[in-house]
Amino acid sequence: MPEHAIASLEIPNPFFEGRNRIYVILADPITLIDTGIATDRAYQALVDGIEELGIAIRDIGRVILTHKHIDHIGNAWRIQQESNAEIFIHESEMPSVSDVDPKGQRFRTLVHQRLIEWGAPEEALPKPEENSGLHWELESATPTGLVDGETLEFEDGSLEVLHTPGHTNGSICLKYGRHLLTGDHVLPDISPNVGGGDMRQNGLLRKYLQSLSRIAEMDSEIDEAYPGHGAPFSHFADRCKELIDHHDQRLDKTIEFLRQSGPLSAFEMAKQLFGDMQDFHVVLGCAEAQAHLEFLVEEKQVTCESGRYSVLS
Ligand SMILES: [Zn+2]
Ligand SMILES: [Zn+2]
Repeated sequence: MPEHAIASLEIPNPFFEGRNRIYVILADPITLIDTGIATDRAYQALVDGIEELGIAIRDIGRVILTHKHIDHIGNAWRIQQESNAEIFIHESEMPSVSDVDPKGQRFRTLVHQRLIEWGAPEEALPKPEENSGLHWELESATPTGLVDGETLEFEDGSLEVLHTPGHTNGSICLKYGRHLLTGDHVLPDISPNVGGGDMRQNGLLRKYLQSLSRIAEMDSEIDEAYPGHGAPFSHFADRCKELIDHHDQRLDKTIEFLRQSGPLSAFEMAKQLFGDMQDFHVVLGCAEAQAHLEFLVEEKQVTCESGRYSVLS
């Protein structure tokens, strides 16, 4: 077995980010990074994928979750029940594993509240997903909390935890040898959503940009990045830079739209930035617009009055 060997599996995911890529660290203890969504189809793909590696679920000793999203944590409880594996997640996101929202009711209530705050009209609110035909099974499990800088030991070295808030407040990247497992913090093909991933939190865009700069500085220590969706890639500092530029340009556009047609609510800004949005994209678009508006308010370039934003000066 080569040093720091990592295998990857693609797991079906019905949501917009596309298939999940989960990783198996082939050292003692056998460790899974993320678990896919808790549908039967996704779980079967996981079972079949690790079987091809000569591993059964009961052999898994550890599960590390890069963040709390349903397509990453979904099967952790099932793996723990079958193998007694220890489940790790950043300490701030432990409740997402230990106190799950199996039908998504709490989440829907939160989404509804926030969309109203952001000025979305009733008819734009996403319809309940009850009839979407999507069924998953989610139970609570017992997680262990991780903090920045912590290391987990393997027979062939250690894995370092880097807290990289932004996509969610408790997102982590994991450095294992010269590999960096990035979760949804850095993705090769899409810009990770900022704002919609953690709707209880404010200030995530600033944290996201800081987290990107921080890991981009590790470029000389990293040969390959292993993302939560899409294929592993090299030159990962270039990708971090692209994502930083993408948000800088969006901040510029936000100011430009406010100059042209302000004052605007976050919903109206999302329509300017993204056009007409359908279903869950209303939530993602509004949250992303809100994250940029909030950043500009902190920078004192924009002011907010009764939920409507305008340019200062
Ligand atoms: Zn995510
Ligand atoms: Zn994801």
